[in-house]
Amino acid sequence: MQFISTRGKSEPQAFSDVVLEGLAKDGGLAMPETVPTVDTKTLQAWQSLSYPELAFNVMSRFITDIPADDLKGIVERAYTAEKFGIEEVVSLSKLNEDYVVGLSNGPTFAFKDMAMQFLGELFPYLLEKRDQQLNIVGATSGDTGSSAIHAMRGKPRINVFMLSPFGRMSDFQTAQMYSVQDENVFNIAVEGVFDDCQDLVKALNNDAEFKAANHLGAVNSINWARILAQIVYYFKAYLAAAKEIGEPMDFVIPSGNFGNIFAGIYARAMGLPIRKLILATNENNVLDEFFKTGIYRPRASKDVHLTSSPSMDIAKASNFERFIYLLLGADRTRQLWEQIETQGYFDLTKDPIWAERANWNIESGQSLHDNRVETIRKVYDDFNVVVDPHTADGIFVAAQYKDAGIPQMYLETAQPIKFAQTVEQALGFVPERPADYAQIEALPQRFEKLPVDAQLLKQYVVTQLS
Ligand SMILES: *Cc1c(COP(=O)(O)O)cnc(C)c1O
Repeated sequence: MQFISTRGKSEPQAFSDVVLEGLAKDGGLAMPETVPTVDTKTLQAWQSLSYPELAFNVMSRFITDIPADDLKGIVERAYTAEKFGIEEVVSLSKLNEDYVVGLSNGPTFAFKDMAMQFLGELFPYLLEKRDQQLNIVGATSGDTGSSAIHAMRGKPRINVFMLSPFGRMSDFQTAQMYSVQDENVFNIAVEGVFDDCQDLVKALNNDAEFKAANHLGAVNSINWARILAQIVYYFKAYLAAAKEIGEPMDFVIPSGNFGNIFAGIYARAMGLPIRKLILATNENNVLDEFFKTGIYRPRASKDVHLTSSPSMDIAKASNFERFIYLLLGADRTRQLWEQIETQGYFDLTKDPIWAERANWNIESGQSLHDNRVETIRKVYDDFNVVVDPHTADGIFVAAQYKDAGIPQMYLETAQPIKFAQTVEQALGFVPERPADYAQIEALPQRFEKLPVDAQLLKQYVVTQLS
């Protein structure tokens, strides 16, 4: 299997090359050349597989440049009961005929761990083979950074420099990142906001000489390996809930960067019997707007609302480009993203594809803070299940598209303990933490405070690496 770019101007590459490279040379995102399909018989056979076995079977259709036994080892190390708390890795809680799909059982209590734990095993393996070093420089508003740090801590050939906005994350999120003491993890508390962090990361990456000399790399959500790892749990959730293979189900996805839902779109293209994908946004409704109006208009960073589902507070949805590529191909995708550069948006309403949008089987909607709070309360009252504000966003939107007899699979993207304040507002109590985390805010913290200054950041990186 080879990978090509959504903008069609890069040479095809093998899996290992695209995961270490990140963005393609033409500015596009990596996509498999063809969609591997899975038939009903295969799905039936997969129903009895363990999570690592299933991951191996799904992933080996895309990864043809790593020997089978090595890939088996990678997924066996990534998806253990020790890391995810349960043998099945993904849990299901039944709400009448619907399910909460537990994807946040990993080390940092957010679904980002599902992909990041895989990268944490894949990267050292690839780097060892190539005798290379990787210095990951990333920016986070909370969940991604924490997940990356916990996946990469103590890993050979890897250092992590994670930039976060000083004083602007929840105490729990801050402690989860800054209490990590491993020598290969460098927490950088930037005296600014998340966008300042992101700009600093861009500044370092745009300095080609600095980037090459210091082996800079990324783990952001456009990495194909992250999408691939997420495709697996759609199969797992479907197979675990299906009474018989072929039964239609709807999946509900709280969305930000369009990574999670894109994995579902792809799993369906491979043959998984998903009927509809229901996309939920919060006050930051770039994606809902597109599916309602045919116009995709990324916002400026300054126009992003700070909400009670902060991991979905995005100005543009990077992985959305992959969806447009599947619909319209590389030439149109390249043109449309050039239009975004020149006029700030694109409009598909005049395109014949817009008339066929019913066939996309994607519904969308938006929640506001009060909707999420009410949903948390209602799910607790009705089912005695506590969900976090992101998951609540999905459940709220899904109610508008419920068809009796078709199970809705609500993807749970974080655990309520991460967003205790909103949960407390809804329920009047703080969700209980696992014993190991009771005192996490009291642990010693290790971080470096830096101003918004690319030159100082470069110096800091170089000093730590020498
Ligand atoms: C990252 C994240 C999302 C958004 O996922 P995308 O793949 O960016 O669409 C939703 N909820 C939580 C808790 C997250 O951490």
